[in-house]
Amino acid sequence: MSCSFVRDNLHDFVSGELNSSDAERIENHLQSCESCRACVSNMHGFRSRVRNLLKMTAPQELRDSILMKTSE
Ligand SMILES: [Zn+2]
Repeated sequence: MSCSFVRDNLHDFVSGELNSSDAERIENHLQSCESCRACVSNMHGFRSRVRNLLKMTAPQELRDSILMKTSE
């Protein structure tokens, strides 16, 4: 398990789309790697900020198109 593997799969890990064996390996890595932990928390923060912002302001169609972009 390397940092680059974690970074490459971070999005899937955060969104719960990663298969369970890879997710487990990433969790193990995160326990010993502070910089990857920081990456995960940055991504969590970004996604929830976008969600909250869109909930407040955007019409449904715009929301859908932005959420599709951010999940790429
Ligand atoms: Zn790492």
